[in-house]
Amino acid sequence: MRAAVLERPGQPLSITTLPDPTPAPGQLLLQIGACGVCRTDLHLRDHEIPATKLPITLGHQIVARTEDGQRVGVPWLGWTDGTCRYCTTGRENLCLNARFTGRDIDGGYAELTTADERYCLPLPDDLSDQQAAPLLCGGLIGYRALRFTGDAANLGLYGFGSAAHMIAQVAAYQGRSVFAFTRPHDERTQNFAKQLGAKWAGGSDERPPEQLDAAIIFASAGELVPRALKSLSPGGTVVTAGIHMSDIPSFPYEDLWHERSIRSVANLTRQDGEEFLALAPKIPVCTTVTTYPLQKAEQALTDLRAGAFEGSAVIVP
Ligand SMILES: [Zn+2]
Ligand SMILES: [Zn+2]
Repeated sequence: MRAAVLERPGQPLSITTLPDPTPAPGQLLLQIGACGVCRTDLHLRDHEIPATKLPITLGHQIVARTEDGQRVGVPWLGWTDGTCRYCTTGRENLCLNARFTGRDIDGGYAELTTADERYCLPLPDDLSDQQAAPLLCGGLIGYRALRFTGDAANLGLYGFGSAAHMIAQVAAYQGRSVFAFTRPHDERTQNFAKQLGAKWAGGSDERPPEQLDAAIIFASAGELVPRALKSLSPGGTVVTAGIHMSDIPSFPYEDLWHERSIRSVANLTRQDGEEFLALAPKIPVCTTVTTYPLQKAEQALTDLRAGAFEGSAVIVP
């Protein structure tokens, strides 16, 4: 089978031919229809987070078919021990021995893969493989981040890429007002956010016209944390939703005072996946995708780094 493989961090992905994978007991052999591109893939490629296995096939938003034709989704959470103090208290996202797809286990930038059947997710029928793929990370981890904003009426989204373009639709459906923050002067993305229901869109260096009750930071720039805090009403929360972020600059305690909080979101539980994938078709969440053939996987990462497309990139093997 063909795969786009990260051999060494900091180097472009290589397109190579690998032996077809053999499923272990409990695993499914999967024919991949589409695999979403996540900023985490870019962090692994750029050595901002370490790969635990090299070479590694990246990709953890996999839409695939089993040998008997059933369509499944393979997300980032690929395996947990089921026995640690997190797994036994409903927090498998924090499992001490968790293994993640496309970091510890070969992922979906390939024609075939294998996955533990217990961690595969059911997908809504009415989306194509390409449209469904971004739901599997940006969508469902974004949804976990949205839950941590409680009933915030005014919601800021910092970084309007794959996750935010889906979560804006969920938040608007829930009756919240969305304030979208993009790179300064990125009018194309600001217009895209407004089309998806944002009440206001502006640069991340701007203050929103109303105070925010919560903000989710999808971008990896640490300086957005104190900026978001400054726009937050008392009692509000800033949720950081990415796996990697540059250092957060210091800020006056006064900006945190009045029960404002900052928290991160890590990974997903299978329950997050099942809840979000059941909710998405009811809204319905529409994904804007740019597709790349497998041999252009490196180009997809380059375009993601440059912010060259709106919404999500998807690799089609
Ligand atoms: Zn991801
Ligand atoms: Zn565990």
